[in-house]
Amino acid sequence: MQYDVIVIGSGPGGYVAAIRCAQLGMKTAIIEKYPNLGGTCLNVGCIPSKALLDSSEHYHNALHSFKTHGIEVKETAINFTQMIDRKRDVVKQNNSGIAFLMKKNKIEVHQGIGSFVDKNTVEITAEGKKSQITGKNIIIATGSKPSIFPFFPYDKKRFITSTEALELSEIPKHLIVIGGGVIGMELGSVYARLGAKVSVVEFMDRIIAGMDSSMGKELERVTKKTLGAKFYLQHKVEKTYQEGDEVVVIAKDKKGNEVELRGDYCLLSVGRSPYTAGLGLEKVGIQVDKRGAIPVDDHLHTGVGNIYAIGDVVRGAMLAHKAEEEGVMVAELLAGQKPHINYLLIPNVVYTWPEVAGVGYTEEQLKEQGRAYKLGTFPFMALGRARASMDTDGLVKVLADKNTDEILGVHIIGARAADMIAAAVTAMEYRASAEDVSRMSHAHPTYMEAVKEACLAATENRPLHI
Ligand code: FAD
Ligand code: NAD
Repeated sequence: MQYDVIVIGSGPGGYVAAIRCAQLGMKTAIIEKYPNLGGTCLNVGCIPSKALLDSSEHYHNALHSFKTHGIEVKETAINFTQMIDRKRDVVKQNNSGIAFLMKKNKIEVHQGIGSFVDKNTVEITAEGKKSQITGKNIIIATGSKPSIFPFFPYDKKRFITSTEALELSEIPKHLIVIGGGVIGMELGSVYARLGAKVSVVEFMDRIIAGMDSSMGKELERVTKKTLGAKFYLQHKVEKTYQEGDEVVVIAKDKKGNEVELRGDYCLLSVGRSPYTAGLGLEKVGIQVDKRGAIPVDDHLHTGVGNIYAIGDVVRGAMLAHKAEEEGVMVAELLAGQKPHINYLLIPNVVYTWPEVAGVGYTEEQLKEQGRAYKLGTFPFMALGRARASMDTDGLVKVLADKNTDEILGVHIIGARAADMIAAAVTAMEYRASAEDVSRMSHAHPTYMEAVKEACLAATENRPLHI
């Protein structure tokens, strides 16, 4: 079968690329090795983790804030099997949604492992049977897999990654999390809310180190206060092993002092690695870089034939919406358009509670660049809306150019930060100044008023409510 485009991998990068190609009139095929479409994000990533975050947050609120709201619940109990079943159902609904979109856009779905035969031919292996399809253009969207330490006894039972943490059959008593990044904080929060003791061992001097440092500090403070989590920062994990029913983690602090942690589950969340196994890249002469990523140019072209690569398998942030933008970009390039991605304005979100979201430069990056900047902050504590909902933890931080007042970065930790960051992206795409935003009417009472106030603070240091 001959196609205009073959997409390998059906995650948010691959399936969105396929839809956009089909919308632009190209005859498109997608190859996925698993029976369900949607990739990491839909099956073992974004969607199931958010389902469990929502369920566990309801439980936590029922235990800790309903009473103050005047709601008396006689008995609060967890039906963990139901919680996991609901999560599975959410995933299933989304799987069907993508299958529907493939059909609607007349995209042919091939189930099996895709492997290059040559620059235009891909072999598909499914249940021992092999077939071949050819395409004028090929888009690699094979995503990533959890990174595993060589000494980590990954048995998928007690020593687990995010994939297993989304499918446990019981709530851990003591979950030891290695890596206080996004996955560690999101899944650590899930189980801490459900009653597990959670200890986070992190190599750096702060958690969620990719974000503005003030966000990590506040998240650590709130997570200790509301969930009782323990943090071992600047600790390097050196050994992990099982002893009887216990998992044992040995870490050293920067002075060389050893800490021994014992629990019943150990979650490894120290990043993800690009996934290209079985793809047969050697057949077309593509060599991965030191990280295992497929090298691409600014147009996501691999430099070989008409082969492109997008999403987690190439450089840059490992985020679903980044993969989607890249999928659209390649499709539009193939159609002769001139698309562009502003990577600086791809937002980062951590779905803890409070949520954390950021876009643009962090304060640390501006310092490194030696750029003159102004800083405005506003605490959620001073916000009427936040007091009404009892979500007073957190702050908004706005960074603006010292001379032009152009917004350079917006960082939010607080209720609904994940949704609020879109307004900051819009403002920054239009190169708004902090004063522009501070002069726009923001509905009262809303959490967004904190962004307006932080802009007022950045512009002329004149917030209205502190
Ligand atoms: P993937 O989603 O990894 O999809 C790749 C697909 O290719 C897979 O289905 C795989 O089976 C298939 N494949 C691989 N090799 C072959 C082959 N040879 N033949 C056929 N098929 C193949 N990002 C966010 O933006 N927001 C979040 O809230 C978020 N939460 C996350 C939570 C967790 C627990 C995890 C693990 C990740 C999360 N991410 C989140 C990251 C997000 O999942 C990834 O950035 C995103 O899925 C990358 O999309 P992709 O299309 O590049 O690859
Ligand atoms: P991460 O890069 O966010 O965090 C990994 C952490 O592990 C880092 O803080 C690192 O310092 C630490 N670490 C590394 N080696 C260590 C060691 N020896 N001992 C202790 N700590 C160590 O990676 P992740 O949390 O595994 O997530 C993987 C990817 O998935 C991320 O790139 C992220 O973008 C994506 N993801 C995104 C979301 C979201 O958008 N909400 C959610 C989950 C995952």
